[in-house]
Amino acid sequence: MTTSTASRPKIAIVGYGSQGRAHALNLRDSGFDVTVGLRPGGPTEIKAKADGFTVKSPAEAVAGAEIVAVLTPDMVQAQLYRDVIEPNIAQGACLLFAHGFNVHYGQIAPRADLDVVLVAPKGPGALVRREYEIGRGVPSVYAVHQDTSGRAEEFALTYCGGIGGARQNAIKTTFKEETETDLFGEQAVLCGGATKLVQAGWETLVEAGYQPEVAYYECLHELKLIVDLFYEGGVTRMHEFISETAQYGALTRGTYVVDDNTKAQMRKVLTEIQDGTFARQWIAEYASGNANYKKLKQGDLDHPIEAVGKKLRANMKWLDTAPKAQTAAPAAPRGERQEEAA
Ligand code: NAD
Ligand code: MG
Repeated sequence: MTTSTASRPKIAIVGYGSQGRAHALNLRDSGFDVTVGLRPGGPTEIKAKADGFTVKSPAEAVAGAEIVAVLTPDMVQAQLYRDVIEPNIAQGACLLFAHGFNVHYGQIAPRADLDVVLVAPKGPGALVRREYEIGRGVPSVYAVHQDTSGRAEEFALTYCGGIGGARQNAIKTTFKEETETDLFGEQAVLCGGATKLVQAGWETLVEAGYQPEVAYYECLHELKLIVDLFYEGGVTRMHEFISETAQYGALTRGTYVVDDNTKAQMRKVLTEIQDGTFARQWIAEYASGNANYKKLKQGDLDHPIEAVGKKLRANMKWLDTAPKAQTAAPAAPRGERQEEAA
């Protein structure tokens, strides 16, 4: 790249959703020249313009950049790469992903002249922005898939620093490790596991005749307080703060719920990620119109704990002023973004 200034490469951000908006804002505040690439008339174009960015078509944005960050939904990236990125990206540019899915599962085979890297913040976009604004960062992992220039790692670390990816906490990984651990985390523990644990706990109490509102506090609301302790000081810190009775109950009863069978099921989740079963299923689901995905998601949205929570949270005045998870979220909620992306 002849125009490259070692420390401030020109960056195109394609996609202005959860990660895209946060990366674009943080990189700009870090002094980078950022152009946003979006389909004209697409749902997030207004948002990017309102935030003061130069918005170009994906093809134009890609053509003028030294680093191209692909921050559209994973399921549209393969076609986007084929139709728009590969024909327009400059020789020797750096192609950057925030998740290794498409490269790892062979949906994208990047051109041989490109550097190909991954910078994945370990948190949702809203947090990537909020943490940056308060002078902190979300820990990130980075990886190099293809190093043509000999500078691929430098580009990844420069970008990681620019988004405030807690550069000092950045861990070097591989596309394989990032993809498989990211999918495992969100399926078994963070999103899938936690949701089902909360719902099952709430249902158990309500089915036994306890008040739904009390069950909500016990099984959902208080989870944040426990997770905050994990975040600050691990399980050790939780034990420092909870009563002896809570500790004894947790130590003797936790394994009633999460037992050897649960762990065997977790290994099954991991195997389906490693052998490509999950990826093939998700790609086929997306290609056929997402009927099953939409039905399952509606089940979560219609679960009675949602209505109970909505009513209780209306009285939690502090939620009006607290920094919200959606502070830096895109213009449309995720459900609508999925619709338009499909
Ligand atoms: P998103 O759904 O929030 O946003 C997608 C953006 O892409 C929107 O601006 C949308 O308008 C645009 N878009 C959709 N189709 C397009 C197309 N064909 N051409 C151009 N633009 C298009 O996406 P996200 O959740 O930020 O995910 C982006 C990437 O970041 C994914 O690879 C994801 O795995 C990764 N990631 C996401 C998170 C997260 O918390 N959401 C965390 C880490 C990594
Ligand atoms: Mg993920």
